Amino acid sequence: MRENGGGKGYAPAMADAAVTMLRWDAAGATDRGRVRRRNEDAILVRPERRLFAVADGMGGHAAGNVASAVAVETLERAFPRAPSPRIGAPALASRINDAISLANQAILDRSAAHAAEAGMGTTVTVLSPLRADAACVIGHVGDSRAYRLRSEGTGEGFMQITRDHTWVQQQVDAGALDALQARAHPWSSILTRVLGMEQLGPADIHVIDVRPGDIFLLCSDGLTGMVADDEIAALLSGSGTPAGICAQLIAAANRNGGRDNISVIVLRASL
Ligand code: CA
Repeated sequence: MRENGGGKGYAPAMADAAVTMLRWDAAGATDRGRVRRRNEDAILVRPERRLFAVADGMGGHAAGNVASAVAVETLERAFPRAPSPRIGAPALASRINDAISLANQAILDRSAAHAAEAGMGTTVTVLSPLRADAACVIGHVGDSRAYRLRSEGTGEGFMQITRDHTWVQQQVDAGALDALQARAHPWSSILTRVLGMEQLGPADIHVIDVRPGDIFLLCSDGLTGMVADDEIAALLSGSGTPAGICAQLIAAANRNGGRDNISVIVLRASL
């Protein structure tokens, strides 16, 4: 298991803000699982840039690795430092969307230049906390996911933020399949949108409010395909560090079969 940013936190340095300044503790980990020969996922954990992402690559030969790596490298280049502390949600959303478009183009260019990598693609789910507001911005394409766990008593609980860009999700939206049928469907992994597509269009963008105690999870489908939502929520609400929770999530997916690569990033907001 490769770990990144284990337990590192960063406290806001701005002294003049009256708004709630949240501290974020984050860690990420990615694992090959128990079946696949390679790990084609990639994660990005850059607390100092307020940038976190999961990418799940696909393609023949080693091309899936290339696609997910190109995606996270492009995001890193697009955010060489943390955005201005005063940036608002619309401006940050626009920057994230632009970075995802750049990543899409970089994958298309690389596919065009290397025949063995033609047709490769990757999901991407990016999260960047705002400094000036108690909120974060999430950009998303594909079937990796972002969730928020809000502590008990609020009635809000565990929420899936992103909507999968999959054929089965379209069927669920149309009322043709229910969630259980979708989960078991043989076409459950067919993606309708992915980086590496011509005419991708804008990414899905979510601006999500954050309260102290909230926990965010970014993950690839190697977690959500193996571990039920209530078990994920139970592990997230444990008392461990983000790095410890990442290890437990990966262990749970592997215990349940580990049929795919597993990537997780856990972020905890506090005062
Ligand atoms: Ca996967």
